[in-house]
Amino acid sequence: MRIRALAIPATILAAGLCWLGLQAAVYPSTPLEKRVKALADQLAPDLIDIRRDIHAHPELGLQETRTSAIVADYFRKLGLEVRTGYAKTGVLGILKGGKPGPVVAMRGDMDALPITEETDLPFASREKATVDGRETGLMHACGHDIHTTLLLGVAAVLSAVKADLPGTVVFVAQPAEECCGGANLMIADGAFKDIVPAAFFAYHVDDTLKAGKIGYASGFMSANVDGFTLEIKSAGCHGASPWSCVDPIVVGAQIVTALQVLVSREFNVHNNTVITVGSFHSGSAPNIIPKSAKLQATVRNYGDDQRRILQEKITRLVTNICEAAGAEFDLGYEFGTLSVYNDPALVGRALTVAERILGSKTALVEQKPEMGGEDFSYFGKIAPAVMFNLGVVPPDRETTAVHSPTFVADEAAIPIGVNLMANIILDHQMKPAGSKTVAK
Ligand SMILES: [Zn+2]
Ligand SMILES: [Zn+2]
Repeated sequence: MRIRALAIPATILAAGLCWLGLQAAVYPSTPLEKRVKALADQLAPDLIDIRRDIHAHPELGLQETRTSAIVADYFRKLGLEVRTGYAKTGVLGILKGGKPGPVVAMRGDMDALPITEETDLPFASREKATVDGRETGLMHACGHDIHTTLLLGVAAVLSAVKADLPGTVVFVAQPAEECCGGANLMIADGAFKDIVPAAFFAYHVDDTLKAGKIGYASGFMSANVDGFTLEIKSAGCHGASPWSCVDPIVVGAQIVTALQVLVSREFNVHNNTVITVGSFHSGSAPNIIPKSAKLQATVRNYGDDQRRILQEKITRLVTNICEAAGAEFDLGYEFGTLSVYNDPALVGRALTVAERILGSKTALVEQKPEMGGEDFSYFGKIAPAVMFNLGVVPPDRETTAVHSPTFVADEAAIPIGVNLMANIILDHQMKPAGSKTVAK
């Protein structure tokens, strides 16, 4: 078939592009866009106050009672239906829009870390707790105070425009992301038993990007966080007669080395895999072959299939090396946090919105998947999900490291994040995936 080029008058072309939403119109242009932006800006001072209050009073996972009460109270004042008690401190705020549409969810995590804050911020945390018998400071060093604040801000903005909002938005304040699998615990407690979102959205602060930039990965974004403990056993004997017993240190050393060969020789280089033996304890004196060697390892990769293959290969390797040496052993393999998978279709849709809101493609930074863990992944088992990284590096710094006692965030990111997520959710609700409302 031949395709003939048609001369289309510029006015018709512009009107058509406008209808498609593709024209480079000045943002904000629609009345709703203008309202959402104005609301995000107006709310910013209050949201920053809330963020500073939460920052000054950090709480560890499953102990976020103060933060949880702030969230529930804020949701109630907005007129949301509030459900509490999931995973002890988890809260749902349910906003029903004025038009029919799907259910969508936004998640913000609330927990802090056992780190003593070393910033000179006027709202720096002075809170302390005893963890594993040792006194430590507490700090929102992973930005979860900002995630919680963004959740409240988006809830406030969308509540104010709810007459124009199709469907239902579930705001999920999640406990215990850092320590105890809060996402899974909320699901197990029935948080989504009778209200099942069609999509989940979330932010994490990004310690490499400035405010106004968004980082994203399409597909896998974080790794499975698996691992194992291994004890290699021996009868023990004199170091001068090593033929009298199994030497668990030598067997352990062979295993450590063989694990690295396993990664480099048995896994496709494109399937990112890390095995780190981070702990190896054995022995008490130079002339004694000890009765055991204890190893601990973290194992990182992506997806359900890869983690099962790794478990099989590591079990085979440990079993065969120990048997070759005549050593008895105990291997405890654990599947931990699941890798986050960002649904490519959701990412693509949201990036179109983000480019418009943030003003330029250069504000969108494609990132490599990380080998760290994030339990937002479990919401992705319920429905397609996407987590964006929100730039928070202050203007006077190059980076700001999360999980560091000197972590600081640029609060200018708060109204930006609120405005963007409110628009992403509105876009999702107005044109649900698979709908035929987009002009062809
Ligand atoms: Zn963290
Ligand atoms: Zn975090």
